[in-house]
Amino acid sequence: MSYCVNCGVELHATCSECPLCRTVVQNPRQPVDRDSPTPFPGRKGDVAPVQKSDVTILISIVLAVTAGVCGLLNLMVFRGNSWSLYVIGGCALLWVFCLPVFSGRISPYLSLLLDGAGISMYFGIVAWLHPGNGWYLRLAFPLTVLATALVLLFAAFVRQIHASVLTRAALVLGETAAFTVIIELLIDLYWQAALQITWSAIVLTCCVIIDAALITIIRRTRLREEVRRRMHI
Ligand SMILES: [Zn+2]
Repeated sequence: MSYCVNCGVELHATCSECPLCRTVVQNPRQPVDRDSPTPFPGRKGDVAPVQKSDVTILISIVLAVTAGVCGLLNLMVFRGNSWSLYVIGGCALLWVFCLPVFSGRISPYLSLLLDGAGISMYFGIVAWLHPGNGWYLRLAFPLTVLATALVLLFAAFVRQIHASVLTRAALVLGETAAFTVIIELLIDLYWQAALQITWSAIVLTCCVIIDAALITIIRRTRLREEVRRRMHI
């Protein structure tokens, strides 16, 4: 019985080198048995790593088949209403969301823009099936555009300026406050009520207080370093 002089692992009699650390086996009392079959397979069973194109094909086929089958079921079996449009729109939306997985070369801005357009399209499908009183054009569409713009602004900030976690948090809070206020104003406009902020003022107040604290911490070096040290950021 031989043992590896480097890592101490027990070695099979046919091993000419340690299978773990590749140290050559030298045991004058037990020469390497070169005639018996080795306990390891001679051929490596490595499989090729999965490529992005494989994932693209798999996800695209699953989503396309789901959308197609539901469309056919809606046309031929369950004809009560156009329910399959929800599924078809959802599949299209998921496909758009997966674009960065399909291709790492797609610009993150374009990807986010397409995500926003996809969400807007899905709301459009729902609005087409449930027309209501213009909720899509007066509420859902502007809010989707605004949310997309805010996410794009955040992405541009993070990518262009190497801002700290604290600065990013301050920006997110600022955007959240602005978004909340605009939601309330759009709802007021939708119901043709007087433009005033009530519940969004609470969110706005909280965000302003936290942002004031964050900006103070960011601007005071000693405070900033203390927070970084304690929070490991
Ligand atoms: Zn070894």
